[in-house]
Amino acid sequence: TADIAMYSAKREGRNRVHVFSTEIQAENATQIELENHLRQAIKYDELEVYFQPIYDVKTEKIISAEALLRWHSNKFGNVSPAVFIPIAEESGLIVEIGEWVIKESIRLKQQFFDLHHPDLKIFINLSSRQINHPQFIDHLTLILQEHKVNPYDYGFEVTETMMFDNIHYGKKILQTMKDLGLTLSMDDFGTGYSSLSTLEELPVQKIKIDKSFIDDIDQKPSKQTILKAIIDMAHALDLKVVAEGIETREQKNLMQALNVDLIQGYYYAKPLPATDFLLHLEEKMEL
Ligand code: C2E
Ligand code: CA
Ligand code: CA
Ligand code: CA
Repeated sequence: TADIAMYSAKREGRNRVHVFSTEIQAENATQIELENHLRQAIKYDELEVYFQPIYDVKTEKIISAEALLRWHSNKFGNVSPAVFIPIAEESGLIVEIGEWVIKESIRLKQQFFDLHHPDLKIFINLSSRQINHPQFIDHLTLILQEHKVNPYDYGFEVTETMMFDNIHYGKKILQTMKDLGLTLSMDDFGTGYSSLSTLEELPVQKIKIDKSFIDDIDQKPSKQTILKAIIDMAHALDLKVVAEGIETREQKNLMQALNVDLIQGYYYAKPLPATDFLLHLEEKMEL
């Protein structure tokens, strides 16, 4: 577990000055070990989909939720997605795991939310490897049919970096998904690669401002000016704007003032297991 914590810290860019050769070896060993265990994680029932509520800024009501994967490893304890998602992506395991996440999100929505909260829309993260898999659309269509899913109830979060391999192919896949009735959201907006000019070309209905952009926004008026311009342009393109990583009342108020449409963050709730999410929904309903 100590290895994982160290590895985790390094992935996140901390500890950089402390990288000794022994640690690099440990990191490499750990990566392979992690990959080998991740390969068995579905079989051993170690994966779980959590949900984090997304609120309408004006009404402060929950309108959707983001599905976020958790790995409760029997060997390593809880491993952060910041650690295991990149490993799943590099190894190609993300194709199988990603498909599991879609099915499991649908199953949990149907089992826990549909009875009393049928309008709750679920957003699922996608990786580049998934959309570039030749059978992605076939598999997705099959899953939607088998689970008798109304595609309007689901959305997918994609990133612009996912489009880099082949922008034409990526666009085609996204357009097919949109034609199926699914909602698309551009994730990690404001992290460096994202630009409003390519947004106009992609069939997305939402953009999601990354947490890293929100973090120090109260102290940086220049960032507020940029965000205001992004929001105005997004609205001119008929896109809704989601802000993630809202942790304080000040940030929430600022998002309201800047005319953000939807917010998500620890200020309201952390990602929760489906049963806890349901309790959170019911509590909110009573208000
Ligand atoms: P992301 O898609 O940008 O997801 C948002 C992350 O910010 C989540 O981290 C969420 O728990 C965290 N977050 C939300 N609000 C707050 C807040 O107020 N404060 C703080 N400190 N954090 C907040 P998480 O769950 O650790 O996931 C990390 C990343 O792993 C995700 O970033 C996403 O890129 C990836 N990921 C997670 N689940 C999946 C999945 O099922 N498939 C794929 N392809 N990627 C996933
Ligand atoms: Ca996301
Ligand atoms: Ca993000
Ligand atoms: Ca992301």
